[in-house]
Amino acid sequence: MNIVFLGGTETVTGSKFLLESGDTKVLIDCGLFQGYKWLRKRNWQSLPLDIKQLDAVVLTHAHLDHSGYIPRLYQQGYRGPVYTHRASRDLCGILLPDSGHIQEEDARFYERHKLSKHEKPEPLYDRQTAERCLELFEPVDFGEVFNVGNIRFRLQPSGHILGAASIIVEAEGKRVGFSGDVGRSEDVLMYPPQPLPELDLLLLECTYGDRRHPEADVWEQLAAVVTDTVNRGGVLMVPSFAVGRAQAMQYLLAKLMDDGRIPRVPVFLDSPMAIDVSAIYHRHADQHRLTDQDCARMTQVVKYTHSVEESKALADINYPHIIIAGSGMMTGGRILHHMKRLMPNHRNTLLLTGYQAGGTRGAHLQSGAESVKIHGAYIPCKAQIAALDGLSGHADYRELHDWLQASALAPKTPIQLIHGEPDAADAMRLYLQEHSRYEVEVAEYRSILKV
Ligand SMILES: [Zn+2]
Repeated sequence: MNIVFLGGTETVTGSKFLLESGDTKVLIDCGLFQGYKWLRKRNWQSLPLDIKQLDAVVLTHAHLDHSGYIPRLYQQGYRGPVYTHRASRDLCGILLPDSGHIQEEDARFYERHKLSKHEKPEPLYDRQTAERCLELFEPVDFGEVFNVGNIRFRLQPSGHILGAASIIVEAEGKRVGFSGDVGRSEDVLMYPPQPLPELDLLLLECTYGDRRHPEADVWEQLAAVVTDTVNRGGVLMVPSFAVGRAQAMQYLLAKLMDDGRIPRVPVFLDSPMAIDVSAIYHRHADQHRLTDQDCARMTQVVKYTHSVEESKALADINYPHIIIAGSGMMTGGRILHHMKRLMPNHRNTLLLTGYQAGGTRGAHLQSGAESVKIHGAYIPCKAQIAALDGLSGHADYRELHDWLQASALAPKTPIQLIHGEPDAADAMRLYLQEHSRYEVEVAEYRSILKV
């Protein structure tokens, strides 16, 4: 069996691992490269394989850095199956068309501002292609065994987000594990990642290979931010990712209100995508910690604003309230409209709830910017900036090590580190070398490994 590393190496994006056994070829994950331009350029290069010979794609989870290249593959003629957990299929049904829409907008932006060397820049793929590729999806459940050629597959829960899985592969008498993105043992929404079986090789993510999450009480932090903002008579803005974070925020706020720990003020979820994703979380209630009752309470406490008119009407509310809106790093979305009118007032608060990548408005604000550029205008930042630690969807290096220790891996099991920036991957390698006997290496882009 061969593994070819086609992405998700030396970076946290573009996850793609080609598995070859005899004539069978399967792509594990099919993600978009994101972030730096030199990385995004790789989305335009063709894969070093004949797509007609590809038998199947198997996805660990729905995040675009693992799934966002599927429409491109479809555009290039791929019509084979895409196996993934049924919740991931549902989430891809929202995330992929939205990604197509963003690709179209980007192409239009490049055309309007003449930023492309092409007269009429094409999107990587459009919304329609992303919608069509969904017909290839074959949903599977955790624990269900399925075969592609002579390779046998099984998905097991990895925490992280709804539907997220580690993939266990068996062929030629060997067993290989793909960790997928690994969640935390104490996540607000998700159950802990399931321990791995004995393996001949593990591909392990190491997003936080060089970081420890602070031991912060999320409930207490959030209660303090809400109470302070309400006492000042202000509005709390919560930029949020549509998958996972938006649901966690609704749950935390509803519970804090029911427990009498924060004042009852109106809460608005002003993101059509996060509203749709919330419905998927409610539909798959057996896959996360929230009960049907919790889900019902969330929808009673939080008002969903679908239309642009409803969103604009929030500007007329002149008493304290809370607005959850996308996007999480303030790179676009409805949150920008609210920030334009609310950031210049010191009574209001902007609450950062997740990772803010370098170069985004979120990162500027986190480092204390005095103004922020939105839709061409500089908006003064008088509002308070707060951050909520502890909602990360990824295990840190200690939690990853704990997970490995709880598994059935033999002491000398080979591990290839994937899905980490170079510093994180190297720190993870050194940590595991010091604290375990696994044979750890950092995977290299386009390398081929024989198992
Ligand atoms: Zn992920």
